[in-house]
Amino acid sequence: MRALVVNPHERSVRVVERPAPRAPLTNEVLLRVLDIGICGTDREICRFEYGTPPAGAQEFVLGHEALAEVLAVGPDVTLFRTGELVVPTVRRPCSSARCAPCRAGRQDFCVTNEFSERGIVRADGYLADLVLEEERYLVAVPNALRDVGVLVEPLSVVCKAAEEYTLLRERFAFEVPHPRALVLGAGPIGLLAAMTLSADGSETYVFSREAEDGPRSKLIADFGGHYISSRRTPVDGLLQRIGPADVIFEAVGVPEVAWAALPVLAANGIYVLTGVPAIGEPMLGDLRGWMRNMVLHNQVIVGVVNAGPSAYQQAVVLLERFLALFPQPLRALLRRVPLDQAPEVVKRAVGTKDVVSLN
Ligand SMILES: [Zn+2]
Ligand SMILES: [Zn+2]
Repeated sequence: MRALVVNPHERSVRVVERPAPRAPLTNEVLLRVLDIGICGTDREICRFEYGTPPAGAQEFVLGHEALAEVLAVGPDVTLFRTGELVVPTVRRPCSSARCAPCRAGRQDFCVTNEFSERGIVRADGYLADLVLEEERYLVAVPNALRDVGVLVEPLSVVCKAAEEYTLLRERFAFEVPHPRALVLGAGPIGLLAAMTLSADGSETYVFSREAEDGPRSKLIADFGGHYISSRRTPVDGLLQRIGPADVIFEAVGVPEVAWAALPVLAANGIYVLTGVPAIGEPMLGDLRGWMRNMVLHNQVIVGVVNAGPSAYQQAVVLLERFLALFPQPLRALLRRVPLDQAPEVVKRAVGTKDVVSLN
């Protein structure tokens, strides 16, 4: 079978032939991979800035945003049948007995940092024709989501953030009628977050670099959002232009932008950070003003990474809803390429969400 492998030692990214997996045993499921989404993490790995092969290996298979079809099941599998569509989760638990989250199946909250992630750290990914996976790490996807199901994994990150946001809002014993939302960044995660907020009835603004008459602005308008370009309104002019936001969802990974938007956060507001900035020198800002505002206005800043099983399931439900509400902007996110073009696409983004189609 074909697989796209990254070798950090040789600094190579290439399509190779690998032996097909054996037949599934016990609770294993043999999957035929259909689509693999490519994201910023994959591109960091292909620039050799991030990513670790499994113990003892020099290279590893890339790809963590997968949609696959069940080809065969082990004798103890009860949840899946041949022909069904599935999305595998990405993170696998660490082995520490003291890691309560991993022992409880919530490795997205792992405290040891010794987890593995398929296609990212210490485990092969899914960018191959066939893969073997344990039943417990698979999420069922209805056939109606065949062409957009590859978005389940990135959307699961948004759904975990939504779970945290919902919990935090439970502190209010009163109704906040129509929360106003600001999303920083118009990449796939930012756009999926904006779709989620818009579908929930929030007045949603997306802030990014592209011009206000560009295609992304149109796409955002198509699902009911508003687009603000940094070319027209710099981040420190946002508050004046759109007014305070009850929730800010950050998906840019640029600390200068993330913190400069803090004054937009309304009283009692919740600020969700999902971007991971590159390691660099310490930075300082208006520490006095931020601390005053946070305390005097009961504000919350929360960081969110990865996703648990419930967030994956919620992502499937939400994708079905998006497909009913705004199918056209949803499908417009995706741009498919065949496997032989994958080594190019992992270097440079072409669409909003580039997808490698294998089968
Ligand atoms: Zn990703
Ligand atoms: Zn752990």
